Amino acid sequence: MAIEQTLVLIKPDGLKKSLTGNILSRLSETRLEIAAARIVSVTKELAEAHYAALKDQPFFQELIDYIMGELHERRRVMALVYHGEDAISKVREICGATNPEEADPRTIRGAYGRITTLGIYENAIHASATPEEAEREIKLWFGPDEVVYHIYPVQETEVKNPKRLIWA
Ligand code: UDP
Ligand code: MG
Repeated sequence: MAIEQTLVLIKPDGLKKSLTGNILSRLSETRLEIAAARIVSVTKELAEAHYAALKDQPFFQELIDYIMGELHERRRVMALVYHGEDAISKVREICGATNPEEADPRTIRGAYGRITTLGIYENAIHASATPEEAEREIKLWFGPDEVVYHIYPVQETEVKNPKRLIWA
């Protein structure tokens, strides 16, 4: 038993199919806590960084298009951090196998996933697979101020003349 955190993405197909509520309900069965959440417009840089480990796979370009929302006319995903006991395996279990045809039909991917004609697994959800992957991914998608726990070490830094948007 370990207290862990894990990154979840509701992928563009999940948003397009209005599955956000269903997926969050399924995830609430884990009794884990949501420690962060945001809707993110996914840039090419973020997509490629997120899937860096798969860059030599033949489906890499299609995967980048998929996570950027190019196949679903909306460039966004919902990113969340779940926190609690054995968070990584609990969330992966409810997600189901990567290939939606092999996933148990009672899992999120088994219920809502499909294989496209290009052969991409459109499986509605991403979840970190290991503590190392979770740390790398959470730091990629969230800043320390956006997560309610300071789960990883932080440092203070003085930002000089930062340009940022404010409400007009
Ligand atoms: N993927 C795919 N075909 C494959 C393997 C993976 O389309 O043969 C896609 C799928 O959307 C998957 C993502 O690439 O969720 C990341 O792959 P990974 O092996 O990390 O699976 P996951 O951790 O998402 O279960
Ligand atoms: Mg993975």
